[in-house]
Amino acid sequence: MIRIGHGYDVHRLVPERKLILGGVEIPHTLGLLGHSDADVLLHAISDALLGALALGDIGKHFPDTDPAYKNADSLELLKQVVALIQQENYKLGNLDAIIIAQKPKLADYIPEMRQNIAQVCHADLSQISIKATTEERLGFTGEEKGISAHCVALLIHC
Ligand code: ZN
Repeated sequence: MIRIGHGYDVHRLVPERKLILGGVEIPHTLGLLGHSDADVLLHAISDALLGALALGDIGKHFPDTDPAYKNADSLELLKQVVALIQQENYKLGNLDAIIIAQKPKLADYIPEMRQNIAQVCHADLSQISIKATTEERLGFTGEEKGISAHCVALLIHC
């Protein structure tokens, strides 16, 4: 039995915040605003995993009204999502994610993001695909007002 899930997330870019994507802190003049560390990539991945099993979304599991999740490390949140998946007797088949950002260039950081995600998902690097693109200066990502991320994930029954 296999299940597919889709996740999508957006965070606003603001000054004086860290830019953390895939658990990697990336030097940049702007960072993502959010209640947690605002790791838009890990949020899209978490939503894809939860969505595959119709378990709702990260807003339901980790509400931004809960002070426990203030500046939360999203790798820790993903770890909890993976534990939920395991409770349901599923494991990751593969995931494919894309980060949409005009700046900065992300290629150099993608190997470390994949490693972080593979480790938390108890998966091999070959199961974790992370890509980055721009929207050609169009829309809110193109105007550097925010960063978005999409993810699709396939889960396999154990
Ligand atoms: Zn988010």
